[in-house]
Amino acid sequence: MKTRAILLKNHGELILTERNLVVGDTDVLVKTEYASICGTDKNIYLGNVSQEHYTMEMHGKGNPLYNNREVPKLPFWIGHEGGGIVIETGKYVHEFKPGDKVMSFGWSGTYADYFVSPARNLEKVPEGLDIKIASLGEPAGCAMFSALNSGVNLGDTAVVIGTGFAGLIIIQGLKKKGAYKVIAVDKSDQKLKVAQEMGADVIINVDKEEVILRILNETNMKGADLVVEAAGTEESFNTATSILKHNGIFVLYSYITKPITVNIGRWHDDAFEIKTTCLVHHTENERQIWAQWALRPIVLGQINIDKLITHEFKLNEVQKAFEVVCNDPDAIKVMLKP
Ligand SMILES: [Zn+2]
Repeated sequence: MKTRAILLKNHGELILTERNLVVGDTDVLVKTEYASICGTDKNIYLGNVSQEHYTMEMHGKGNPLYNNREVPKLPFWIGHEGGGIVIETGKYVHEFKPGDKVMSFGWSGTYADYFVSPARNLEKVPEGLDIKIASLGEPAGCAMFSALNSGVNLGDTAVVIGTGFAGLIIIQGLKKKGAYKVIAVDKSDQKLKVAQEMGADVIINVDKEEVILRILNETNMKGADLVVEAAGTEESFNTATSILKHNGIFVLYSYITKPITVNIGRWHDDAFEIKTTCLVHHTENERQIWAQWALRPIVLGQINIDKLITHEFKLNEVQKAFEVVCNDPDAIKVMLKP
C-alpha cells in the first residue's frame, strides 16, 4: 500500500512524499496516531552521527563485541518514536492482531500516516494508557527505566544534568523514589522552571552559575550521591565526573554520537559505580518484560508526561518541527500528528 511519509533526503532536508509499504511475513502494518522527535533523530537529521563512532578503526572494526549498528544511509525514512493501531499482520505474527494499540521501539519510519515494523520492534500499549502518551512509550519507557534502575536511595542528593524530556521524567522518578534533594542542571531557564514543577529542589543554569562550586556547596563539600548524565555533551560528562562523591553512582543515560575526552581517571580513583540505563539496548526479550514495568508509574499517573509535550505539528510541517527541535532551547517534546 501507499502512504505519506517523511524522507530525510539530505542532512537538514526533509520532504513529505509517497512511500510504498510492504508487509512481510514477520511485519506489522500500523496506522500512526502520533510520532515524536528525539535527540537521536535530530543528530541524524543534522548528520552528527558518524560511522566512525560505531566502528572506530582502532578498536571497533571487526570486533564482535561492538554493537554493529549502522549509521542510517540517506535517503532515510526517518522516525522511530510513535504509536498507533495495528491494521494488518504478516502470516507469522501471532502476538498482535488488527485493532491492537502498539508503540514503536525501532527504526520504522514513524513519521508517516502508516508505517511497517518488524513485530519484534513493537510493544503493546499498556492497558489504560492514552494513545498520545503511549506514542511516547519508547522515550518515556527509557527514561523511567533509568530512574527505576538508578540505584537512588532515601536521603540521597541526586543531580540530573540535562532537563530535556528524559531528564524531566528522571527527576520525577528520583524524587518519588526517595531522593532527599534533586538538583537539576541545564542551560534553559524555562526547562529549569519545569524541572522545579516536576519536583527538583535546586535548579542551576550552567550558563549563569559555577555549577561545580554550587553543587559542592549544596552537598556540604561531599559531592552528589548520584548523577544522571542526560545532556550528552563532553562538557556534561566532565561536569558529572567532577561533582560525584567518592563511590558515587554515575548513571549514564544519554547517547553520545562522537568520541569525547573525559577525565576518566577519577572514575577509577574514586571507584564510581557506573550504570548504563538505556532500555532499548537491553535485549529484545528483556525489553518486552521491562517496557511494561517501566511504563507502569506513568499508566498509574505517578509521573507527569503531559506537561513535557511543548509542541505539536502536522506531518507537512515537519521541517518547522525540526527547526524547533534544533533551535528552540525551551522545546521539550515535539510531536507529529498525521
Ligand atoms: Zn528516541
